[in-house]
Amino acid sequence: MTNVSNIPNSAPTVVTRFAPSPTGLLHLGTYRTAIFSYLFAKKHNGKFVLRIEDTDRERSKKEFEDNILRSLKWIGLDHDVFVRQSENVARHRAVLEQMIATGHAYVSKEASKDGSGIIKEIVRFKNPNINVTFTDIIKGEVTVHTADLGDFVLAKNLSEPLFHLAVVVDDFDEGVTHVIRGDDHVSNTPRHILIQRAIGAPTPTYAHLPLVLGLDKQKLSKRRGARALSDYQEGGYLAEAILNMVALIGWNPGTEQELFTHDELIDNFTLERVQKSAGVFNPEKLEWINREHTKRMSHEEQAVMLDAFMPTRIKELPLYVQKRDRIHSLLIERIGHFGELRDMAESG
Ligand code: GLU
Repeated sequence: MTNVSNIPNSAPTVVTRFAPSPTGLLHLGTYRTAIFSYLFAKKHNGKFVLRIEDTDRERSKKEFEDNILRSLKWIGLDHDVFVRQSENVARHRAVLEQMIATGHAYVSKEASKDGSGIIKEIVRFKNPNINVTFTDIIKGEVTVHTADLGDFVLAKNLSEPLFHLAVVVDDFDEGVTHVIRGDDHVSNTPRHILIQRAIGAPTPTYAHLPLVLGLDKQKLSKRRGARALSDYQEGGYLAEAILNMVALIGWNPGTEQELFTHDELIDNFTLERVQKSAGVFNPEKLEWINREHTKRMSHEEQAVMLDAFMPTRIKELPLYVQKRDRIHSLLIERIGHFGELRDMAESG
């Protein structure tokens, strides 16, 4: 059976990327995209690119970029290449101009939608209105007739290329071979393929990941209580447990194994085993996985974490000082995550 995981040695180096927009704190569902992209690259001795898509100047914030970088580092997702999309703006403009020169795009004078009567020079893609077919590793073959997309907008003006063009140019320049991203982008892919063909870029292999839902079967979202990764770090969860648990949302190795180290995940990961239906985040499973990883730590490592999370007034109690080791081993059996020590101290 042909399996895309069995990439022959002669194939170009696998390059994947995680391309978050730093416009807010990212939740577990978004980090799953990063994790799958990373695991796939490492499994194939490839490269993992972190591309911060910060071209929306108003909404992009340095604090969110910092949070993403810290969170990825915390769970052990080291990138091989780091880029900020805003640094490539001159290149995006050059490609836009070239597309106009070659007739793949054109300037369209259009009245501004705000009713002000101002005429804007928008750049539109000259859609050849053809069938575009691509094979998605998770969804299978997808065919779209691009006439439905019309002459879509590439840039609001000559100096501001939009998402579709920027993403295609950057993936091309960074040598991305596999685009692993959320399902919400699947409708963008035919546009991206049209742009790739117009600029002579190869089409990467796509894998669009199904949504991550909460136990209530609703889309995981910040608004509905999904927490940022940094909240879990502050709550005393172990980085390896978070990595393990998030990797198991909508993916399984085809065996009964549920506890994985970072390296075991790399060894076991295949995109073919990502399920087609939405994955579900189960907070109870997280507590179980976290407890199991906690039990696997050495006594010294456990003690460092327990002492870090134990409220000072308890640490100073004579009983605690005398029976520290005994108390530690009892606590390790009971707690799901170290932050519970604070709650126990407050309620007790
Ligand atoms: N920046 C996009 C997002 O945050 C991702 C683009 C892509 O993966 O192609 O949704």
